[in-house]
Amino acid sequence: MINPSVQIRKIDSYDLNSLEEAVKEFLGGLKSQKFIRSKRVLIKTNALGAFAPERAVTTHPLVIEALIRYFLDKGKEVWFGDSPGGTVSFDTVWQTCGYADLAKRYPIKVVNLGTSGFRELSYQGKQVKISEILWKCGAVINVAKYKTHSLTAFTGAQKNLYGLIPGMVKTDYHRENPNTNDFSELLTALYALVRSRITYNFIDGILGMDGAGPSAGNPRVFGLFMGSTSIPALDYTAAKMMGFKISDVPYLSAALHLEGILPSHIKVPTSFQHYRIHDAKISQVIRSQKSMKYVPGIVRIAFKKLYSFHPIVSERCKRCGICVQSCPVKAIDWEKDSNPVIRKRDCIKCMCCHELCPHQAINIIKSPLARLVLQ
Ligand code: SF4
Ligand code: SF4
Repeated sequence: MINPSVQIRKIDSYDLNSLEEAVKEFLGGLKSQKFIRSKRVLIKTNALGAFAPERAVTTHPLVIEALIRYFLDKGKEVWFGDSPGGTVSFDTVWQTCGYADLAKRYPIKVVNLGTSGFRELSYQGKQVKISEILWKCGAVINVAKYKTHSLTAFTGAQKNLYGLIPGMVKTDYHRENPNTNDFSELLTALYALVRSRITYNFIDGILGMDGAGPSAGNPRVFGLFMGSTSIPALDYTAAKMMGFKISDVPYLSAALHLEGILPSHIKVPTSFQHYRIHDAKISQVIRSQKSMKYVPGIVRIAFKKLYSFHPIVSERCKRCGICVQSCPVKAIDWEKDSNPVIRKRDCIKCMCCHELCPHQAINIIKSPLARLVLQ
């Protein structure tokens, strides 16, 4: 039986010294010969899109800086990258997330995982394209953000691997896997295909997000910095601290099963109980799915259309066009000098537009029945 451990530190604000201490403590115990011998380290951040650090959507640049300093000090060659979602340029994303400056101050290589070639691998019938960079680095450090998610309930270390899929291929996969279960199966396949390459995982929950994550929720100071060699152990612990049950996050139970990890065997610090977040708000889409689980199947089918959600463009729209370009089924019309309009009949509710809108201008509207049940 595998007994992975999860490390947790209380850090209330982004302070480089505290982060460097935590990184040293977490990584100090890494005994893997592969890691020790590896010359090149990839730091895989969460750069979902062009969001400033205070929006709590992307991994904070000071967390990355602490890691860069640690690995350079160990004499490693550091590569730092991601494949952002949507159509905003990589340089704009890097600049807005506060990462561009790091490459000026440290001798590192920035890698766009969206344009560096890929391998197409298969797991249980799912074909997945994965950035070739993963095979060019001896050690891979996965650095996620601690957030709720409107499609997968929770996003931590495993969901962060989705950025290993190049550029707009991610959008194609959203089209092919529009609902939570299909998308979770894809995440499971991705995890199964890359898990042997991932050396260590961090979750930046110093400033995290609840509500309509992963980008339109509420930034919240959780004051938590977490790490583990085991992705499912880390995600299980982090999701539980937010109040999720294992059944709320389908890809999580699949990953635990794949590794043969029983939740009761995961080792967490004794301080774990004090760090629980008792008032984290989950996305209303996920709340709706949870409440539907208790409705008998036949009634669920009958009420499916009446009990629903759909995205609409609100008055906050700045007409940047990102949602239009990012919609995998081209369900958003956009006339010159007006806000885009979502064609409800064609929308597959993948929530990509909601996720990638930089101005929180896509609202999720409940049907009257859903309003009644979830008020
Ligand atoms: S809804 Fe958001 S992403 Fe779409 S055009 Fe408006 S501001 Fe841009
Ligand atoms: S309109 Fe938004 S939610 Fe609907 S299919 Fe397009 S991107 Fe997905």
